[in-house]
Amino acid sequence: MNICDAHCHLANLAEIMPLQPLLDAAAEQNITHFLSSALRKNELDCYQKLTQRTGSKVLYSAGIHPFFEACDLEFADLETLCKQAALWAIGEIGLDRGNPEYAVMKDIFVRQLEMAMDYRLPVVLHIVGYQQQAFDILRSYPIRYLIHGYAGSLQAFKTFTRLDSYFTISERILREDKRDLLKAMLKSRRFLFESDITQYYVHEGEANPLLRVKAVLNKVAELFSVNPEILIKMQAANYKLLTGQDI
Ligand SMILES: [Zn+2]
Repeated sequence: MNICDAHCHLANLAEIMPLQPLLDAAAEQNITHFLSSALRKNELDCYQKLTQRTGSKVLYSAGIHPFFEACDLEFADLETLCKQAALWAIGEIGLDRGNPEYAVMKDIFVRQLEMAMDYRLPVVLHIVGYQQQAFDILRSYPIRYLIHGYAGSLQAFKTFTRLDSYFTISERILREDKRDLLKAMLKSRRFLFESDITQYYVHEGEANPLLRVKAVLNKVAELFSVNPEILIKMQAANYKLLTGQDI
């Protein structure tokens, strides 16, 4: 069965590495599906082409990020993409404690949630700090959420599961001190796996960072003595719930 990378930034990566051979090599390892996030205007052309690609299936979302300086997407861009039915979701959007202007950040976040409501799209969330505030905002919307790379407290995780929410497991929570959170995420069965790969995260000499998602998956399987195929099946079921498509 095929594997999905449920959160990545392929167009961002494409600026430093030719994507085609990386995607082909990933497909040989059964990594065939990607939920990628656009955050800059100059990535949009790349996504137009990537979504037409055969051999792997790339779906993309777009959003105004709470704490990524290079993000230059505007509401008008998102509106156009929504009208074209180009996006599988809005995001990644959210709250980040690194942003000192809470009121502005919250306003931008809420406007994008409203847009997701208007176009009946899921939302990819980036929540760093402000977990209670995020929950208080999100609970007002009957939206399906994909909370990416969550590494906050176990208690806040449990609160987020009261929403129609799914979570991507990243390298970040493979650490020993996050084991309870990882366990709870697995138990919830609402997980997918991600690399969150961008050009900024590529290691020196790393041949293909698209293979990382499989390493995360295998590591989780090893930590909990689970057959990786079971994790892959669960991820596929959650992918279907989020995107309406089969892997
Ligand atoms: Zn990301």
